[in-house]
Amino acid sequence: MNSVRKFKLQRPTPLSVKEHVAGILNGDRTILSRAITMVESAKTEHRAMAQEIIEQCLPYAGNSIRVGITGVPGVGKSTFIEALGTYLTGKDKQLAVLAIDPTSQKSGGSILGDKTRMEALAADANAFIRPSPASDSLGGVARKTRETIVLCEAAGFDTIFVETVGVGQSETAVHSMVDFFLLLMLAGAGDELQGIKRGIMEMADAIAITKADGDNVKASIAARREYKQALHLFPPTTTGWTPRVATCSSLTNEGIDEVWQLVEEHKLLVSGKGFFEQKRQEQARYWMYETINETLTRRFYDDPKVTHQLQAIEAQVVAGTLSPFAAAQQLLALS
Ligand code: GDP
Repeated sequence: MNSVRKFKLQRPTPLSVKEHVAGILNGDRTILSRAITMVESAKTEHRAMAQEIIEQCLPYAGNSIRVGITGVPGVGKSTFIEALGTYLTGKDKQLAVLAIDPTSQKSGGSILGDKTRMEALAADANAFIRPSPASDSLGGVARKTRETIVLCEAAGFDTIFVETVGVGQSETAVHSMVDFFLLLMLAGAGDELQGIKRGIMEMADAIAITKADGDNVKASIAARREYKQALHLFPPTTTGWTPRVATCSSLTNEGIDEVWQLVEEHKLLVSGKGFFEQKRQEQARYWMYETINETLTRRFYDDPKVTHQLQAIEAQVVAGTLSPFAAAQQLLALS
């Protein structure tokens, strides 16, 4: 009985849309977190409220630099984010670290979920760390992170990091919501070994060779040369930016500031030519269509008529008694 009463007392009082927006614009972290939780919620009423909050925050958003950071597990992403993040908050930047991890649903949160990661940043008054939202689809996770960016910017964060694991499609989603895409690579491990696909390298505005310290320095310098040559083989970018390769160590902090200089140099170049805004406009358009696609898909699979017949029709396709195309048409006609 006692514990029930205690729980009730601790439960936060519901806030209106207006109160949420005011809190966010005031930089209130607790209210920001509560709004993000609503963005991530599967409940229809939460989603509707989240949309209103986002709409009202939108005029105050956009004033930041958004950086995507990717690389295979073990490359040193969290240590790098901690080093670069601490460097930036030391310069009075307000940093939000978000993540996209489509595997978090299955593994219960593999990136950013672990509390021991980024301890210094987690305790840093100028930083805000939010783990990857769990969702049953990459599109869902990505949309939630994209909406969270808007809320963080409205709350005054001028630097946004979006981290993702460098193993699959999530890079494309991150690439479509950031201004600068940074790929972390290890020296001495072949591309195959690192599981990095050519397409991901092609998306990178810069590659940073991590762990360039101690015995690894020589190999890192050699790797920088190799990647530089590899990047030269890609067609030139429309913005006129030449993707760069840097080496850095998150342990000694060597090269960390140089990586950030690349981000700033890139921004200066693309802003001057109007490409910065143009890319954000294209991304806004992309996200409109992504959201339509995601909503239509969810609506279709949530339709009871579809759920009722899906398995039986699928079984016919597998048995070869119905063509996949006819099956799709039949199901689509139901909803
Ligand atoms: P993530 O899985 O990509 O997030 O990688 P982590 O940041 O967890 O790092 C993986 C391992 O590499 C950890 O044991 C780190 O201590 C180590 N590591 C990360 N950055 C560096 C670095 O700059 N130098 C060295 N020598 N080790 C590092």
